[in-house]
Amino acid sequence: MRGIDPAPEPADLTTQRASGVPYAQLSLTQVRRALWDQQSGRCAYCERSLRAPDRDDHQTKIEHFHPQSSTEWTAACSRESGASSPNLAPVVWSNLLLCCDGNESARRAFTCDTAKGGVDICECFRNPKSWGRGPLVSIDGAGRAFPVAGLPAGAEEVVERTLNLNADTLVAARFEIIRARKRQIAKYRATHHGLTAHARSTLAARFREESFTAEFGSTLASLAASLSP
Ligand SMILES: [Zn+2]
Ligand SMILES: [Zn+2]
Repeated sequence: MRGIDPAPEPADLTTQRASGVPYAQLSLTQVRRALWDQQSGRCAYCERSLRAPDRDDHQTKIEHFHPQSSTEWTAACSRESGASSPNLAPVVWSNLLLCCDGNESARRAFTCDTAKGGVDICECFRNPKSWGRGPLVSIDGAGRAFPVAGLPAGAEEVVERTLNLNADTLVAARFEIIRARKRQIAKYRATHHGLTAHARSTLAARFREESFTAEFGSTLASLAASLSP
């Protein structure tokens, strides 16, 4: 999971909200597409690639960071949703994210929004849309995700259980990326007569750049950090 650079909200959403259309009756075609573009086609939480929402077989889900069903409304809920009141939270752009189906079709090992359900994590986590561009998790050499420093107490519980970001399939997919990139580093080392400080920073810059758009981008961001002097 990494910070999402918020794009301007689609005009369609502004208009519908101004007319007082409740979330259940919103037309979401433009919203879904704008979220997909904004997130470079990846799930906001696990960073799996998502099929474009204009395809019939897309499996994207619109997630509310501050849940629609939540009965809580604290200062953190207002800050993380970006809504001034609980009744606006379901329809403000800053509270909307696009997610994968969270293994819903497999009916087990749910992840992301499907695992989170109506749990309110505003106090113990941060909305990727309010976090800036950096990762919210770091990935270790085995492919496991851990919250980065600066997240509130309780963030580890969110990563591990509420969002289940260390589900076997996700860890295995990240580990595969780490293996492939390590082979790339070894090849670079062999053809450039060693891994000089310059070579390390060149590779780190390349991985960091890719992390903004690649599937499981946080894995690349963590590899870049490990290469940086
Ligand atoms: Zn996901
Ligand atoms: Zn909340």
